[in-house]
Amino acid sequence: SSFSSLGLPQKLVVRLTELNYSQPYPIQAKAIPPIIEKRDVLGIAKTGSGKTASYILPILANLQHATPTKNRHVNVLVLVPTRELAGQVNDVVRLFSSVLTTRVKSLPVFGGVSINPQMIALQGVNILIATPGRLIELVESKAVHLSNVETLVLDEADKMLNLGFKDEMNKIFSLLPKKRQNLLFSATLSEDLNDVKQVLLDNPVVIKI
Ligand code: AMP
Repeated sequence: SSFSSLGLPQKLVVRLTELNYSQPYPIQAKAIPPIIEKRDVLGIAKTGSGKTASYILPILANLQHATPTKNRHVNVLVLVPTRELAGQVNDVVRLFSSVLTTRVKSLPVFGGVSINPQMIALQGVNILIATPGRLIELVESKAVHLSNVETLVLDEADKMLNLGFKDEMNKIFSLLPKKRQNLLFSATLSEDLNDVKQVLLDNPVVIKI
């Protein structure tokens, strides 16, 4: 298959060609169409499979029709286990979104660094990429509001659980609107992850790579 057959806007297809993404990786071919259709997705895939682009590309496509964000509300929340992954996901967003006419502002936030610059930067962000603990601190300081989130992504969910973030994750889920799209990515499917899957996903498209 080709990227143009997956339902992505032409501007993104052109950008992919510029970046020498000549054809979609299997996870991308399988995940992009249902994500554009706003379905929930469970993706069992490791780093290196192309999983980041498999959710970022359709999210960028859908953002073109999203309600613009008010001040400190975000449209898309990507939860990640580590600072490194937050930075990588943010880089992928920037790589693709530069060609879009809709204003896309993404921001990575994580613990272990001063919170104030993150609080200031959280203005007009539509894609927030966050580690769970720092996100809760930012919500509690009212630096960000989660009540308008349309799409939630959990990336490397197994690692997030292994790092002991389960309580934080559940707390964050409770702050999100009930009606939303959920995308769950994990390298493995453990019992703990199955619980998260049951709580989070509504009739998901399941993709195993
Ligand atoms: P990820 O699994 O998301 O960490 O991606 C692994 C690597 O594959 C990254 O360096 C991407 O830039 C690259 N990549 C992802 N999708 C494609 C594609 N369709 N064609 C070429 N490179 C890709």
